[in-house]
Amino acid sequence: MSKFLSNLYSSLEPYTPGEQPKDKAYIKLNTNESPFPPSPKVVEAISTDVINDLNLYPDPEVGLLRDAIAENFGVKRENIFVGNGSDDVIAFSVMAFSGRGGNLACPDITYGFYPVYAELFGVNLTEVPLRDDFSVKVEDYKDFTCPVIIANPNAPTGLMLSLNEVEDLVNQNPNRLVIMDEAYMDFGKKSAVELTKKYSNIMVIQTFSKSRSLAGLRVGFAVANEEIIRDLETMRFSFNPYNINSLTMRAATAAIKDKAYYDGCIDEIIANRELTKNELIKMGFRVLDSKSNFIFASHPEYSAKALYEELKNRGILVRYFSKERIKDFVRITVGSKEQMQSVVNEITNILKG
Ligand SMILES: *Cc1c(COP(=O)(O)O)cnc(C)c1O
Repeated sequence: MSKFLSNLYSSLEPYTPGEQPKDKAYIKLNTNESPFPPSPKVVEAISTDVINDLNLYPDPEVGLLRDAIAENFGVKRENIFVGNGSDDVIAFSVMAFSGRGGNLACPDITYGFYPVYAELFGVNLTEVPLRDDFSVKVEDYKDFTCPVIIANPNAPTGLMLSLNEVEDLVNQNPNRLVIMDEAYMDFGKKSAVELTKKYSNIMVIQTFSKSRSLAGLRVGFAVANEEIIRDLETMRFSFNPYNINSLTMRAATAAIKDKAYYDGCIDEIIANRELTKNELIKMGFRVLDSKSNFIFASHPEYSAKALYEELKNRGILVRYFSKERIKDFVRITVGSKEQMQSVVNEITNILKG
């Protein structure tokens, strides 16, 4: 730390992204990326026309992309906010609705960026324990009057609230904002976007990083009523109005329009997820009922940390969290059929000793 860093940030603990090692070619199942390439339409969209226009600033309204996302969900441009990854959208949301001494509530086991943003923006965060079976129970949030952020499906458990449960959460208090982080919802297919048309106290955040094979492009978005979106735009125009560059806008617009391509990818991931779950259960694992593109699994006789290390030695990367309640679990991203076959084979060998 230099002597120049503001005291405000001296104890800030940054988010730790999953490892992206370059020492050898791994089967990479640790950061929930898609095994499939982006739609061919995305490649076409990054044409020389766009490249020749890079001397110009991008459209600060991000009109083309917001219109395409709006059309996809049957809402208007005014209901859509876009960010440089959904992390950016989450950051603007925490800043706007809880920043500078405000409050926020989230589950104790969830996406690791929420506490980091809370710390960065001076937010008092309350972490509400998941139940013993790792489920989120919406009644545990009924007394909170501050904004609530919930990843659904949750990470790293993969467990999902039903649409009725989300609606109950929203109905607990019409004067409280509910932020649903649906990074994995394309694999769960119970999005709360429809509720944003009916209620003015819910916003839904999604990303192009997981189901749309564009983690490297950095695009995420929020769907909500116009006033909420205007508040987020106030933050964005006060910080970085050009957070979406011209190439990203074109590429993401092409992606959201190619529903047929991505529906095929999503269905394949769901099928691979269910096959792998069953294989792991046969091997004696406890496997949570994931509705996402990853599997959270624990073996009664084999340490999760050792399993993570053994797999890494054999060229397969999965994610391990040392946090107390989940230290007996590994999180395995669902990849292609071949990748999942390799992981199942290697785990079988490891368990045999
Ligand atoms: C991956 C992930 C994100 C961030 O995704 P980006 O759009 O790549 O920034 C947000 N929330 C959850 C729960 C995630 O797992």
